[in-house]
Amino acid sequence: MKKTALITGASKGIGKAIALNLSKEFNVVINYNKSYDDALLLADSINKNGGCAKIFKADITNLTEVKNMIEFTISHFKKLDVLVNNAGIAEQKLFTDITETDWNTIINTNMNGTYNVTRQALKYMIHEKNGKIINISSVWGLVGASCEVHYSTAKAGIIGFTKSLAKEVAPSNITVNAVAPGVINTDMCNFDEETIEMLKSEIPLGRIGSPDDVANVVGFLASDLSNYITGQVINVSGGFVV
Ligand code: NAP
Repeated sequence: MKKTALITGASKGIGKAIALNLSKEFNVVINYNKSYDDALLLADSINKNGGCAKIFKADITNLTEVKNMIEFTISHFKKLDVLVNNAGIAEQKLFTDITETDWNTIINTNMNGTYNVTRQALKYMIHEKNGKIINISSVWGLVGASCEVHYSTAKAGIIGFTKSLAKEVAPSNITVNAVAPGVINTDMCNFDEETIEMLKSEIPLGRIGSPDDVANVVGFLASDLSNYITGQVINVSGGFVV
């Protein structure tokens, strides 16, 4: 039976590239929150090209919606083999300007959202003694970013989450890994030309990353080629952070 992957925040950017990549081998569930049109277009294009994709609206911070999404995935495809926790939001502000609401929103979406979806998915995966969980962190979770303390904190939390959960669920034949992208060309990195040029000059490989650069690594982690890898954080930043 064909395997199934659920990708959160797959309506655009990195998540979209991951859904396209995984759709070559997996049935895919494209989770979106606000971008219904983008999610629908993506699913149509996958389905027209011989893949099998379904879309599901769920705010990953809402436990009821997350439970419904996992139930939808299992009831529709009868399986959940791979979970990619990709959905996330960022914000750039001085630490002293970050309000309690800003702090809670960034932590809640990036970290608690990952917790919500993983917890619900794991109930099924542990029962099946099979699964791969791939969490999208950030290089800022590794080295910290000025003016993004809340975001860096959440992404560092995802790394701790990945390593500890990997140890706990390995006996159930479930792997948990993280990918830490650098600067990737998506709506999240909507910088002006001058900033892009400055960033490029600081990246040893001399270019901003593409969503496919991240999706290719996720494709590997989702495949059987990575069966003996768990608890790892793979840095995809063109040498920006080494
Ligand atoms: P993006 O283009 O802004 O896409 C973000 C995605 O997350 C959208 O599909 C959005 O869905 C979804 N999302 C946000 N909040 C959500 C929620 N509450 N529930 C469900 N979905 C939600 O950003 P991106 O650059 O592709 O980022 C993807 C991941 O990579 C994020 O975790 C980000 O932190 C990480 N990352 C990005 C970079 C980079 O340079 N771009 C670098 C390091 C790490 P809707 O539009 O449907 O609401």
